Amino acid sequence: MKSVIVVGAGIWGASLALRLAEAGWQVTLVEQHKPGHVRQSSAGETRLLRSAHGVDEWYTRLAWRARDAWRRLGERAGVTLYEEAGMMWFAGTPDGWEHASSQVLKNLDIPCEVLDPADGGRFFPDFRGDDLSFLLWEPHAGVIRARRATQVTAALAEAAGVRLVRARAVPVAGDGAPYACAVEVDGEVRQADRVVWACGAWLPALFDGLPISVTKQDTLHFAVPPAWSVPETPAWVDHGASAYGHGDVDGVGMKATSDAEGRPYEPEHGPRTVDPESVEQARAYLRRRFPSLAEAPVLFTQVCQYALTPDAEWLIAEAAPGVWLLGGDSGHGFKHAPVLAEYVTGVLAGDHAPEPRFGLHERQEARGLRTSGRIG
Ligand SMILES: Cc1cc2nc3c(=O)[nH]c(=O)nc-3n(C[C@H](O)[C@H](O)[C@H](O)COP(=O)(O)OP(=O)(O)OC[C@H]3O[C@@H](n4cnc5c(N)ncnc54)[C@H](O)[C@@H]3O)c2cc1C
Repeated sequence: MKSVIVVGAGIWGASLALRLAEAGWQVTLVEQHKPGHVRQSSAGETRLLRSAHGVDEWYTRLAWRARDAWRRLGERAGVTLYEEAGMMWFAGTPDGWEHASSQVLKNLDIPCEVLDPADGGRFFPDFRGDDLSFLLWEPHAGVIRARRATQVTAALAEAAGVRLVRARAVPVAGDGAPYACAVEVDGEVRQADRVVWACGAWLPALFDGLPISVTKQDTLHFAVPPAWSVPETPAWVDHGASAYGHGDVDGVGMKATSDAEGRPYEPEHGPRTVDPESVEQARAYLRRRFPSLAEAPVLFTQVCQYALTPDAEWLIAEAAPGVWLLGGDSGHGFKHAPVLAEYVTGVLAGDHAPEPRFGLHERQEARGLRTSGRIG
């Protein structure tokens, strides 16, 4: 039986541990806190699932498969992890990101519908779209209960035989290679056939020279009348304005927040309070798009962090023989986790190499994969 140590029990590490155990590997999962702890990116209350990815077919296909995976995982755990409320894209130009997305979705037979901005009133209790060119409706998109999903995945992994160790792992220097296929935990070196560092925003501090920067992201939920709840009110993204959100899920309020990258951030000790400017920014967007919510009170906030690569492509790379880095999710990795885990399991087994796009090479700035079309 092949052995693997996965470091980090966010949704990427936990999903991978589960998949590897199911594929017959002996798995140790090392996590410095608890799966679902509030500092990890995966502990956001909710995360969006969408198939649209601009011109990119690879991520579009992956997200479409992930939809089924989340439904199956929820059924297996007896919990609704994914709410299929649909997603509305607000397109500011006729031939931009949303148009490219619609073409790819149609080519791949993923349902979508191009609508007039005036149709927005059918989907939201109150909507102003007079600045928009069109709306793109993705009926099979929605909202994942992220923190819950992370805890459920970690619990399923343990039930599948994964050994969960609560400790901080440290890389071990290699003999003739930069790193050994081992981790140091509480002063003890543990070896395995493979080691995967799935450490989210902590990864760049563990390994030098990675193309990953970490930013503070404030998330806001507003108190809204019952009509603004999922599934009656869908998820929405305004790519051009870097704004997104969804109707109330589980009483934490309607999410309305910015995807523009915040200031540099340290995930372990950085402040977990949102900035007043973030509230103002979200409110300004609500005022413009959903005017009746202009004075809605803030009900719930969370601080999270992005681990961004310049081109928003992930990092899936072998740093030394058997030592794999899995990170740089760039703010769009949650939805894909169960199927990404399948893909990485194939990489670790040697069934296929990772796509060149995920390598350690220098990256060019690009925004096509993010839900944010503008910087700052
Ligand atoms: C505000 C916000 C909104 C987002 N919205 C979406 C969305 O709508 N849709 C979507 O698909 N994605 C979204 N994302 C991205 C998504 O949340 C991430 O892609 C995903 O959570 C990344 O998971 P991860 O497991 O890589 O990292 P994390 O969840 O951060 O987990 C990393 C784990 O590694 C552990 N760790 C680190 N170092 C060590 C060590 N040395 N030893 C032991 N343990 C260690 C940490 O404690 C942590 O638990 C969003 C992210 C943010 C911040």
